[in-house]
Amino acid sequence: MVLFLSDILKGKIKGFGFEGLIQPDELFALPVILSGPIKFEGHVSQIGDKLEVRAHVCFDGRFFCHRCLKEVKRLFEFDFSHTLVQIDHRFDPLWFLARKKDGQIYCLCEQIDISDVLKEDILEAAPRFLLCSEDCRGMFGNWPG
Ligand SMILES: [Zn+2]
Repeated sequence: MVLFLSDILKGKIKGFGFEGLIQPDELFALPVILSGPIKFEGHVSQIGDKLEVRAHVCFDGRFFCHRCLKEVKRLFEFDFSHTLVQIDHRFDPLWFLARKKDGQIYCLCEQIDISDVLKEDILEAAPRFLLCSEDCRGMFGNWPG
């Protein structure tokens, strides 16, 4: 989903909301098997001289506990926020390599593909080792051994 920022940048509006879906086949390498699309909703707003985007993301998924291998279903929820920084790609042909840096998102030509940004956010935020519960004792009840 592409967000068009020109109305905010020109001062016509202060901000706007958005919502959408990311389909499971758009997101690889997530350590969770998705039961359906990832839902997101958020807001872009002008705060001082900066543009901020905030988004809430949630999805149902299942995974196998890293210690006991039990299958677990869980609702995952994340909140993300970024400052949007306008750049002109003509002066930096490698801009996409540094699209995201220190919570800032570089956006090109007054627009930003929020789905792409959130896909990166989700992969960064998803824990690598998921457990059925924090005190899971492992397959033989003797974790950590
Ligand atoms: Zn477990």
